[in-house]
Amino acid sequence: MIFIKSKEEIELMRQSNLLVSRTHAMLAAEIVEGVSTLKLDKLAEQFIRDNGGIPGFLNYNGFPNTLCVSINDVVVHGIPKGNQLKSGDIVSIDCGAVVNGYHGDSCFTFEVGEVSPEVKALLVCTKESLYKGIEQAVAGNRIGDIGYAVQKHAELHGYSVVRELVGHGIGRNLHESPEVPNYGKKGKGVKLSENMTIAIEPMINMGRKEIYQEADHWTIKTRDGKPSAHFEHTIAITKGEADILSDFSLIEEVLNSKK
Ligand code: MG
Ligand code: MG
Repeated sequence: MIFIKSKEEIELMRQSNLLVSRTHAMLAAEIVEGVSTLKLDKLAEQFIRDNGGIPGFLNYNGFPNTLCVSINDVVVHGIPKGNQLKSGDIVSIDCGAVVNGYHGDSCFTFEVGEVSPEVKALLVCTKESLYKGIEQAVAGNRIGDIGYAVQKHAELHGYSVVRELVGHGIGRNLHESPEVPNYGKKGKGVKLSENMTIAIEPMINMGRKEIYQEADHWTIKTRDGKPSAHFEHTIAITKGEADILSDFSLIEEVLNSKK
């Protein structure tokens, strides 16, 4: 069942998503060579709690942390550890927060130190593919229109789209119907209607699309060991342009001031 939100609920979701984006912006200043991913996790948990939120992922289906921290060939669901970030790494930080009973969910992939031009291009294309998907997220279109747009853009650049993990409806629950795949056919799938809230989250691999899960039952990696990138926004569907509830501009401001 798909939960259509009221205007008031969408404003509450904007608050939880803005807290997620502010957490990302805080972390943007901390992501440097040598920092441990566990430190980033602790900073994020404290920041969310200090700002009236509850970490959305902590204990979700038993997940042990606030952040999913996925480095290089880790696609998603990496568990923060004492491991140190190195120059040349990319690190996707997936973060969720609950404020007033509503979930926010957003992911941003960061560069650590000097990243190769090939890997930078993967990040650019993955973020672009997210916005290509969002362009199609309009009332009256279908879920397949979103996936088609994401897939087309990624494959045009020679990358591949992970099939096993998808975006989702979101609201009082972190994961609601419908599923939002990053691949698909135009005009197919659930029809989008006004005030549906969904998370669109392309996971794009530099090499082949195949993935596997590590023995920890969480960490998902690319089979070929090549890097993977992940960007995610939570949006509300309208009759026109989607209302993007999370906000990368807060993150990008910090990144630009680091340069
Ligand atoms: Mg997420
Ligand atoms: Mg999500």
